[in-house]
Amino acid sequence: MTRTRPMQPLVAGNWKMNPTARSDALMLARAAAATAARHQAVTTVICPPTVFLAEVAAEVGPSRLAVGAQTMAAEERGAFTGETSPLMLAGLAGFVIVGHSERRANDGETDEGVAAKVASAVAHGIRPIAAIGERIEERRAGRTEEVVDRQLHAAVSRLEAIHGSGLVIAYEPVWAIGSGEAASPADAQVVAARIRELLGTVDADAAPQVPILYGGSVTGDNARAFFDCPDIDGALVGGGSLDAASFEAIVAAAEAAAAHRRTPSAEATRS
Ligand code: PEP
Repeated sequence: MTRTRPMQPLVAGNWKMNPTARSDALMLARAAAATAARHQAVTTVICPPTVFLAEVAAEVGPSRLAVGAQTMAAEERGAFTGETSPLMLAGLAGFVIVGHSERRANDGETDEGVAAKVASAVAHGIRPIAAIGERIEERRAGRTEEVVDRQLHAAVSRLEAIHGSGLVIAYEPVWAIGSGEAASPADAQVVAARIRELLGTVDADAAPQVPILYGGSVTGDNARAFFDCPDIDGALVGGGSLDAASFEAIVAAAEAAAAHRRTPSAEATRS
């Protein structure tokens, strides 16, 4: 069965705690804006450190490039030292990464916390990019599906509906993040298909339209193989988003894969 893809592939750059200098952040943002302008068939997103968010958003202005946050609090206000309220992000960030494995491992982010943040982001008009994925010991123990099922169910558990939520799921096997050892596209596709199947049990109509990204050591060289997978609609990119040329190569690969799918012969091959 063929599926109608989301409107556009989506490539999001997670800058993590980089770059440390404001001038470098603005330069990288300008380069990403130029990339987004050159590849308008791709939804291109950058997620800079929170401290640079406002300036980066102002720098890129109204452009094809979307700006996202790397995390946020579920709560609107109060005694949450160091946190950022969705009220502060609304109007500034179009997206927010929620549940990144580094935050799960280092900052005690739980499935329940992810559920609250996903719901809060949606309530504030910010598209959540919910990151899920298994650790290496879980994969070795054959528990990938169980872990992904649990994290996905939790992530959507407090949404009233998936339709209209703007939800994005990023499948990021933890062992592939920053390791230089990406998952095989075939393995990533198996998990992406499982994620879509689970989304379908929650909302059968919306599931085909939810962008599912692969994340974990994506480069300009390996990106296309992921984008050619039927259930992978883009990428969440860490290290590869910190180099303007490499980020552009990944965005260009997403655009080329989408263009290829639109050709009549590609359609015939898929159906
Ligand atoms: C990430 O941090 O979400 C990520 C995928 O990192 P990298 O691309 O560096 O593996």
